[in-house]
Amino acid sequence: MKIGGGKLSQNPEHFEAWQQGRPVGPLTIEVGATYGCNHDCVHCGFQQYQPYGKKRNFLERDAFLHFLDDFRELGGQEVYFAGNGEPLLNPHMADWVKHGDGLGLEMAMSSNGIPLTPKNATAILPYMSWIRFSVNGGTVESYTRVHKCREKDFDILWHNLKFAADLKKERDLKVNLALQFIVYDLDWDSIKPMVERHHEAGTDVLIFRNVGKPDGSFAEITDAVRSSLQWAEQQARVQVRWDTFTPAQATAVWHQCQAVHFKTNMDDRGNLVTCNRNLIKDSVYGNIHEQRFKDIWLASQRKQTVFEDVCSGADIAQCRQWCQVSYDNLFIEKALGQPV
Ligand code: SF4
Repeated sequence: MKIGGGKLSQNPEHFEAWQQGRPVGPLTIEVGATYGCNHDCVHCGFQQYQPYGKKRNFLERDAFLHFLDDFRELGGQEVYFAGNGEPLLNPHMADWVKHGDGLGLEMAMSSNGIPLTPKNATAILPYMSWIRFSVNGGTVESYTRVHKCREKDFDILWHNLKFAADLKKERDLKVNLALQFIVYDLDWDSIKPMVERHHEAGTDVLIFRNVGKPDGSFAEITDAVRSSLQWAEQQARVQVRWDTFTPAQATAVWHQCQAVHFKTNMDDRGNLVTCNRNLIKDSVYGNIHEQRFKDIWLASQRKQTVFEDVCSGADIAQCRQWCQVSYDNLFIEKALGQPV
């Protein structure tokens, strides 16, 4: 049975095992490995509403190594370091990606790229499937306006990216090096120089997109900016996500939230969280600093209670506009033959 996009459609046997009540875990997890960041981007919700300041907190090394073992054993496929904070500030990242890759997991990350020094890149890149670098500005002026960082970070970033691209070529690494540029009035004067920088560095792809707002609204662009983007998408290895430049369409509503069985989340304190419902109601179902993931997923009463609550769909009206797994919820509902 073919269902949904992403990991679900690639793993129909995992979905069928779940339908048959067999003990399978999530296919993907998004992990916030670090609390804190070295930048202060204007569009970063965490920094604007609850600034990190100097505070830092890191997910624990050994607990996460055990987690990787359990996650893989239960059928896990992809570990994506993102969430709030800069993942590469966590001092254990190299150990984790090496271990995860050795287990056959796809290791992926979003980063601002500044901590990916040549030493870190050499230790980390051979084990990564992809990295998405957040680079919002093709000139030092626009970059520092958005990232609110030191001017010298702009040069550090491009030095790091060039080193990473050269290393990939030299060692024939599988890692995909993607750059993401969020287009708005603070940086849209630097679209052309950004494309030139990307080509000089030799990175794999540059993606321009709009700011995604939780309420579905978007930032308007001028005709001149639209022309610049049309020029950009004609260039090699550049994509424009035009769908993000139009208002979000009203999406269909699903009736239950079963996708949380296939994608889950973890924060820097080791808390396991079902989904973005946690923004309105506590949806933490366990903690890997206290208990093994396998025991939590298969046998914890708390997990069962939280999942029954979330899966019932009782809160859909409040959280569907920022639901991370909306497409999967819709596809699962269709696959199960329930009304969409
Ligand atoms: S609609 Fe809400 S409760 Fe359901 S999966 Fe999405 S965020 Fe979670």
